[in-house]
Amino acid sequence: MRMRTRKNKASAMTERVYFDWNATAPLRPQAREALQEALALSGNPSSVHAEGRAARRLIERAREEVAALMAARPADVVFTSGGTEANMLALTPAIETPDEKRPRERLLMSAIEHSSVRAGGRFPRAAIEEIAADADGRVDLAALAQALAKAPRPLVSIMLANNETGVLQPVAEAAAIVHAAGGLLLVDAVQAVGRVPCDIGALGADLMTISAHKLGGPKGVGALVPASEAFHFADPLIRGGGQERGTRAGTENVAGIAAFGAAAVAARAQLAGEAAHMLALRNLLEDGLRAISPKVVVFGAAAERLPNTTLFALEGVKAETAIIAFDLEGIAVSSGAACSSGKVQPSHVLAAMGVSPTLLRGAVRVSLGWTATKADVERFLGAWRKVSGALSKGSKVQRGIAA
Ligand code: PLP
Repeated sequence: MRMRTRKNKASAMTERVYFDWNATAPLRPQAREALQEALALSGNPSSVHAEGRAARRLIERAREEVAALMAARPADVVFTSGGTEANMLALTPAIETPDEKRPRERLLMSAIEHSSVRAGGRFPRAAIEEIAADADGRVDLAALAQALAKAPRPLVSIMLANNETGVLQPVAEAAAIVHAAGGLLLVDAVQAVGRVPCDIGALGADLMTISAHKLGGPKGVGALVPASEAFHFADPLIRGGGQERGTRAGTENVAGIAAFGAAAVAARAQLAGEAAHMLALRNLLEDGLRAISPKVVVFGAAAERLPNTTLFALEGVKAETAIIAFDLEGIAVSSGAACSSGKVQPSHVLAAMGVSPTLLRGAVRVSLGWTATKADVERFLGAWRKVSGALSKGSKVQRGIAA
């Protein structure tokens, strides 16, 4: 009896559909293998003996692999404990170049940045200005140009892909405007890298930040990638040993970094195929949502988006209730940013897009990954039919379906 119960529980777990890849992606098999191999090594990468050199080799190989994902120079990659730390490290007035050592006095950021950027790093609150976004979820470039006219030489932060809507930002256009005003551009590419092509030079980013766990590496590893060796961080967040060329002290997370490298190689090799796969499923999912709920709103649908993300709402359906109902149906989705779910705060991204407060409270984020299948999407749509019918105060037809 007991055995059977356990088995049933186990099979119920394996049948779950995980559609929350923007919160975190499962570890890729290649990353798991690299992690396990690296954990078997005992050396400290700063040691000069053979054990130390073996650990160092893993880090330097990963540096090349991660750099290749964004066409950056390996020597410029600074490994950190994740995207949040990478953003914190970059958000400082003290970014020097050989001919420019004056601190940057202003930080401009789009109104849709991740909370790790919104916190402002080491800029005082009074030095930070938000740049509006349009109704499609894109940063407003005219507003950026206006703000630059008032604040010369700022650091500007614009993400490449928004974590809630998936909307891709006009980063290359923004870079041209920022550089013309003597500013520096930080691009949080955490959600974009591994899902869409990211070339640091083509984007015109001065600094890019990435995180391993969004592309199939482990949690707790990321990187800050300056576009050139000319950038010097005069006040690193963590000081001590000279690791990461003095920019980030502390014995390196060798296994995490090695696994990050392996995930980067796999993500790069499979990028086009995975993107096409996710886009086909995402289109199926959105067509299905619209067929079931003609009044459903898909946020940012008119803009270019990541191939895996759908953020939607239906008037009358509350996100927190929908997410619990989906969970009971065996489907993991989210109400937006993972950091704020649980607290269920209204999304600052949707607020910046001018979405009404009632609709905004219903926003459900579905984010797919490379293992998603058509059957998963069909299960999601079956669940939505039930969930929306039961929860919507909308049409009688929907209530009828639920009954
Ligand atoms: N930036 C964006 C756009 C994100 O979506 C996230 C994580 O959700 C982060 C930064 C933070 O990355 P990490 O979880 O590695 O600290």
